Formats: sequence, C-alpha cells, structure tokens
Amino acid sequence: MMSKKIEITLTTQKKDKPDYNKLGFGRYFTDHMFVMDYHTDKGWYDPRIVPYEPISLSPSSMVFHYGQAVFEGMKAYRTEKGQVLLFRPDKNLSRLNTSNERLDIPAVDEAFVIDAIKKLITVDKEWVPTAEGQSLYIRPFIIATEPYLGVRPSSEYKLIVILSPVGSYYGDQLKPVKIYVEDDYVRSVKGGVGFTKTSGNYAASLKAQTEAEKVGYAQVLWLDGVEKKYVEEVGSMNIFFKIDGEVVTPALNGSILAGVTRDSVINLLKHWGVPVSEKKIAIEDIYEASKAGKLEEVFGTGTAAVISPVGELKWEDHVMNVNNGEIGPISQKLYDAITGIQSGKIKDEFGWTTD
Ligand code: PMP
Repeated sequence: MMSKKIEITLTTQKKDKPDYNKLGFGRYFTDHMFVMDYHTDKGWYDPRIVPYEPISLSPSSMVFHYGQAVFEGMKAYRTEKGQVLLFRPDKNLSRLNTSNERLDIPAVDEAFVIDAIKKLITVDKEWVPTAEGQSLYIRPFIIATEPYLGVRPSSEYKLIVILSPVGSYYGDQLKPVKIYVEDDYVRSVKGGVGFTKTSGNYAASLKAQTEAEKVGYAQVLWLDGVEKKYVEEVGSMNIFFKIDGEVVTPALNGSILAGVTRDSVINLLKHWGVPVSEKKIAIEDIYEASKAGKLEEVFGTGTAAVISPVGELKWEDHVMNVNNGEIGPISQKLYDAITGIQSGKIKDEFGWTTD
C-alpha cells in the first residue's frame, strides 16, 4: 500500500524537560510529531516527522463541526538496559482501522504507521522516562480537515502522532478506586460507535463523570444502553469481576471497546489456569454475589493504569464493598505480570513487546 519515505525535519529549539517526578498524565509533549495527510485523489501522502508545534486549520474543517475523529493510546517503556519497548502496537493500529472503518475514515497502513511511531520515538528517545512506572504515552489521532460544512465524510484528513512522557498512575502502590454505577446516562448502544475510539464517545461521557465525582466516586461504570441492566465498561477501562473463584468480564457486544489490556489479562489468566470467561453480566447478579460474600475482586483494565482495583461499587441505593477496599491477589498479580513484561523485567512469553 505504501512504501513512502518519511521526511525528517529536526527542531532547532529543543524544549526544556519537565520535572520527571511531577509528570502526571498527558501534560508535557516531546520535541517532534509525526504527520501524514490524506486526500481522496492521492491516498495517504507526505509522511513526515516535524517539530511539535501548533497546527493551522480552516475554521470550516469538518472535524470541528461533525466530529469525524478517531484516536489511539499506547505506551513505550524503557528497559533497565536502555532499550525502548512498545507493548502490542499491532493491536492498537488494528483497532485504529476498526474505528476508521466505522467513522468512514480511510484505513491506514498499520505496519507503516507502527514503523513511523518507532522512528518518531527514536528521534525523541531522550524523552522516554527511565524511572519505574513512568513511560512514554503515544497518541495517534486522525481528524477530518476538509473545509466544508455539508454533512458527509471528509475528503481530506490528517493523521498526527504526538508523544507525552507520563508518570506512574498510582505512585508506588496500587490504590483501589470507588466506582459509581451509572443508571441514568448511557455511553453507547449496539449499532452505535461504542466499540470505536472516536472523540464523541468521550465528550458524551464527561457529564456523568463530573456528577459521579461530585458525590465522591472516581469513575462511572456504564450499563447497557437499552435496559440498563448489564455491565459494559468503566470510564476509560474495561471491567473484570472475580466471583466465587471465576473471573468474568462483559463479552464484546458492539458497544464495548476491545481493550488491549483486557485481551492481555484474559490471555494471562488462561495461561495461569485461572477460570475466566466473557459473558453478559447483569448488575443485579453482581449485587447478589456481593450480598452472598462471593464478590472477591473487581478491577478495571486500561493502558493508563494497567490494572485499577475497585474497592467500592455504588448501584442505586446499594453500596458494595469489595475485598474490604483492599487490592486483591489476582489484581496485584496481573499488574505485576503486565508491567513486568512491558518494562522487560519479566520474560515476554507471548511476543507482546517490540523495539
Ligand atoms: N474502554 C474505553 C472506553 C477506553 O477509552 C479504554 C482506553 N483505551 C479502554 C476501555 C481500555 O483499552 P486499552 O486496554 O486498550 O487501553
């Protein structure tokens, strides 16, 4: 599809590095970015690495009006030997094309973009953090850039990849979070765009998140958009429950994002011989399990936090305490295994990392 050369223009004004002990998430950006354009007549063209800088777009660019935009999120990690590893980038690029397909955005050449990301990271290698738990967050995104106000797919797009050094999500220790089960707003319905990473999904989730925070909860757990009976996912994570010895997670049903961490967790559990299944899970059944003392662990999975133990679930008037608000053994074991593979400390038996 594409064997184009990537032009590289290096910055003449390198930025000062931030304090790496206070990175937080997604606040600082490296010196360069990758850009590639699309036009219906040309396909994807002009791949280039250029200094990170503001971009100029027409106010009539279609992305500003109809939200034709998709993105991805993944991380690069520095090993003790100084090597930089990517974790399952093929899964992220294939999901980007799944999102593209649904949003009527032209597909990208996945292998070419992975290669471009690797080149970009090489150019900005000095930004890749070295301390435990820190990493380089990679944000590829595509926006519709044709200046036009008619409602139809854009004939022009821009793919941009930016890089951001990020801190450890929890500091030294995993911290269980409190989750509010959202029974009013919904995130997605079958036939919609819930299985994609399109910006509108996140815009539509903000109000519920704000309201949950006001009553002391970190994130919302979404229920299905029709009956509000079945569990879907949490904020920007997939969700797992350990009930009576078995780990369960909602089956991918068209309205849930297929998380890369979710897939890695399922594979690891199978590898360890822990019973795990993907199925339709009613919130009522979670409540019943909790009442019966069988709700052993609940955790979210996602690139940002990797594993996020849940210490409390609030559904209607019911407050479900999970594992006394403490980290469960499976949550901790999964966190240690995945972060170990990502940072090269544990042998990668699955072939998940690439340099
Ligand atoms: N669900 C949603 C809605 C998300 O935004 C994310 C983060 N990408 C996830 C789940 C987890 O996906 P991943 O493990 O690939 O980060």
